[in-house]
Amino acid sequence: MFGRSMQAVRAATRTATVAGAGLGAGWRGLATGATDKVAPWEETMSDEDFAFMREILSAPSPVGLEAAMTEGVLAPALEAVAPAGWAFKRYKGSASLVVDTDPGNPDDKLTVMVVGHADKIRMQVRSIAPDGKIYINSDSFLPATLLGNKVTLFSEDAASPGAYRAVSGGTIEALGAIHFASAAVRSGEKGVSGDSLYLELGVHGPKGKEQVEDMGIRVGDPLLLDRPIERGVWPNTFSGAYLDNGLGCFVTAQLAKLLAAQPDALDSVRLLFTFAAYEEIGRFGSRVLAAREQPDVILATDVNHDFNGAPGVADKRYPPLTMGKGATLASGSVTSESLNSLIMAAAADYAQGSIPVQRDMCGVDTGTDAMAGVLGGVDAAVTSIGFPIRSMHTVSESGHTGDVVAAIHLIKATVESCAARGITPAYFERAHPRLDNATSLAGPAVVPADDSA
Ligand SMILES: [Zn+2]
Repeated sequence: MFGRSMQAVRAATRTATVAGAGLGAGWRGLATGATDKVAPWEETMSDEDFAFMREILSAPSPVGLEAAMTEGVLAPALEAVAPAGWAFKRYKGSASLVVDTDPGNPDDKLTVMVVGHADKIRMQVRSIAPDGKIYINSDSFLPATLLGNKVTLFSEDAASPGAYRAVSGGTIEALGAIHFASAAVRSGEKGVSGDSLYLELGVHGPKGKEQVEDMGIRVGDPLLLDRPIERGVWPNTFSGAYLDNGLGCFVTAQLAKLLAAQPDALDSVRLLFTFAAYEEIGRFGSRVLAAREQPDVILATDVNHDFNGAPGVADKRYPPLTMGKGATLASGSVTSESLNSLIMAAAADYAQGSIPVQRDMCGVDTGTDAMAGVLGGVDAAVTSIGFPIRSMHTVSESGHTGDVVAAIHLIKATVESCAARGITPAYFERAHPRLDNATSLAGPAVVPADDSA
């Protein structure tokens, strides 16, 4: 999630709370059909799927160097399942990947771009001090949460440009010790400034800076946290670094696998499984992909906040998104209400049971790649589908596998619904809701008795 703007947008738009329970009928109970089969989002994620999710989230793919995820993990996984005729598209300006189910692209076929972003917020070497301390840029991390964490620094070999070496085992530090911290920092009145962070490699002896430079470490080298996800203590939870947004790429890849195995829906809908770059610095990758591929519909899949689980924000009245209660669906900003209606209907009618959806509210900006259409100058119906996580942009982001699986099936249900209803690109041109046709809605006839006593 594109973080900095999100905070501003949330602050600027906290008006009335949007009621957000959505379609929860199938969540804890069974599917509406007379079956005892448990819905996929109610099951414990299999070890095989969890391992694939972990592999995607572990790929070292900082902003600008996303190929470890797109080419190292996603392309081989999807090449193994792709039917003949799917195309794997690459781009000059980034390591983005688009898997196109119908590169022939007949104009009357609805083209749906499902987009996760492969880039991770990165730290970067800013300056090497005379004693060998490697000062870093903390990008969109909360600086205090980085202290003490192990990282890997990736350094291009100046003697062999294009070849990278990895230095693991160092930690991020800033304060040195409580003994050197000011009283205000000790009490928590003051925090850790981003520009005080440095990589501690244990450099000692004379000419510290020269020793570091002799290794080939230089300004601009990226660093990533060493924190692969693990299953959590509470059922179906997991935590680690870079849920943002390996999870969106996992959702997109799992959807591709599911549709590859039952390709009927793809007879009338063209899918663009999209793994974009540069989201975290302003959604600069997906807008180019949208401009190139001209989708009719864009479904961004990205992490969202568990606002109910966030400490100290109750008075802000954020939408009541909660871990473990299903996928989230954005309304507001540039999202298409007709597309959202279609998605909610598809969620309710899904063959495997009603999919739990939590309605989110965005103000000016979705904070996600759903902006790709307008930013790329492409006419598309768009929305964001997400999963509430805790501690976003820290080393210990945590989420719920059920929410992630619900998001996968929410998009699948939407694609199947578009196929079953024969929806063409022109459908969205005529589907805009008419508020001038709204019917009157009265208040309740009777106020219920107070049974709280
Ligand atoms: Zn983010």
